[in-house]
Amino acid sequence: MTRPFNFCAGPAVLPEAVLERAAQEMLDWHGTGMSFMEMSHRSSEVVATVEAAEASLRRLLGISDEYAVLFAQGGASSQFAAVPLNLGGGGKPFSYVNTGQWSAKAMAEAKRYGEVLEVAAACKELPRAIPEQDAWLSADDSAYLHFTPNETIDGIEFHWMPESKAPIVADMSSTLLSRPLAVDDFDVIYAGAQKNIGPAGLVILIVRRELYGRAHSSCPSMMNWEVTDKAGSMLNTPPTYSIYLAGLVFEWLEAQGGLAAMAERNRKKATSLYAAIDGSEFYGNPVAVADRSWMNVPFTLADAELDKVFLSKADAAGLLNLKGHRSVGGMRASIYNAIPQAAVDALIEFMQDFEREHA
Ligand code: PMP
Repeated sequence: MTRPFNFCAGPAVLPEAVLERAAQEMLDWHGTGMSFMEMSHRSSEVVATVEAAEASLRRLLGISDEYAVLFAQGGASSQFAAVPLNLGGGGKPFSYVNTGQWSAKAMAEAKRYGEVLEVAAACKELPRAIPEQDAWLSADDSAYLHFTPNETIDGIEFHWMPESKAPIVADMSSTLLSRPLAVDDFDVIYAGAQKNIGPAGLVILIVRRELYGRAHSSCPSMMNWEVTDKAGSMLNTPPTYSIYLAGLVFEWLEAQGGLAAMAERNRKKATSLYAAIDGSEFYGNPVAVADRSWMNVPFTLADAELDKVFLSKADAAGLLNLKGHRSVGGMRASIYNAIPQAAVDALIEFMQDFEREHA
């Protein structure tokens, strides 16, 4: 069976080798006669699998013991509340960089728990850009500085690291594992799994343990990072099957040569797609060149009337889920780790044919 190319922003395509392995192991995991999802989370097999997934992630990102690696539930959105609840015990304001729709959602949720300071916002005019940090308000006296390194909807990405005396918290849902990362520059990293990691619902957290003790007294145990850490991410029944799948993805990444190899591939994919967009009068991208995302590439057609035809022809050509987010319109190609260069090449060829027919 040939599978179509799926450019969905999330839940997104997973490596085929991982899906095949999961399929093979579905009815009888490692000779146990059970599916992994049928096994007790307290069994030695499940505990060892969760530990192996954590160890693999630690190798991939070079995460030291100063940081906890946690598997949580409730999607990245539940961390929008967990961040102020875990770090806001001292009553200081919460600082946010507002670069797009996911930052705005995180900020709106934090307002429920304290004072929010918007230290900077991406400009609304085209091309959209992230202001340099010199132009930001200072977050130094805040409980933390939150930013979204990659805005999945807007296609805006930081290619530099903000600095602050306040702990730095990053929603890396759509960019974690796309390239190597200096984890030590961050204090908290969280990511919903459904892009580069595994099934929706699971959240990966990397938390500097030094920050424990700052939680608000009303922080629910299930959202409390210190409590989750002490329970080995098993305070309640964790999403064992999702963690198992994430572990297979981590193993796959290691076999591909790790994150340096992924960065090389991802850079090539993004460069070729942006070159095709920039090389044409027919297609446009709304983001400043320096701030363009490697993972989510929004693009518009010269005439929005053609959007529907573009999408239906793309579908027929096996290029799926290219519709831009409903709030933005246009197109968006999400080109996560599991999208091969061949998918991007096929998209570029399709775009060029479409332009010849319709320009
Ligand atoms: N943050 C970012 C950057 C995202 O892309 C998404 C999902 N697209 C979310 C948060 C929300 O994730 P979830 O649906 O897992 O809550």
